[in-house]
Amino acid sequence: MVEEEVGEEYLFKIVVIGDSAVGKSNLLSRFARDEFDHNSKATIGVEFQTQVVEIDGKEIKAQVWDTAGQERFRAVTSAYYRGAVGALIVYDISRKTTFENIKCWLDELNTHCDTTVARMLVGNKCDLENIRDVSIEEGKNLAEEEGLFFIETSALDSTNVKTAFEIVIREIYKNLSRKVL
Ligand code: GDP
Ligand code: MG
Repeated sequence: MVEEEVGEEYLFKIVVIGDSAVGKSNLLSRFARDEFDHNSKATIGVEFQTQVVEIDGKEIKAQVWDTAGQERFRAVTSAYYRGAVGALIVYDISRKTTFENIKCWLDELNTHCDTTVARMLVGNKCDLENIRDVSIEEGKNLAEEEGLFFIETSALDSTNVKTAFEIVIREIYKNLSRKVL
């Protein structure tokens, strides 16, 4: 007789939100396939991608959701947020308005999700230092005010992309362990 050991399975839904063209789809493709799409039109209709990450010897499936371009029309629906346990809220460090709109994205997140969702403020395109429009300090301060993790990334040159997702996944895992105890 063969005995099967059924391991614990973890599947974390993570949403990526923020204004159009801040680099959400490229962050996701960099994370899931280590690819950067130089000609990305407003998102090809992929809904989510799943990537396995190992945390403390446990295999965790991160199911990362993309807005499929709907953010252009502010038409991100409640189905998009349903069941999310983590969120990356993204702006473009070279475009101030995308940073100013973070508060709107947080409001939307808060209407659909409870406060236990692990949140990371992401300043993407940090490779564009020469046309930077949002300082690191501004990013840090907002994150502190709103109780978010903070990181700057570049989907173009890979800086901190994996780390951004891993910090969120670790936090979700930590919250989960706390609940079980
Ligand atoms: P989304 O609308 O938020 O999904 O943004 P996309 O991922 O489609 O990217 C929008 C544009 O920004 C595209 O032209 C990308 O090539 C570019 N882009 C995305 N990430 C980066 C980055 O880290 N650095 C630079 N320089 N450009 C980026
Ligand atoms: Mg997109």
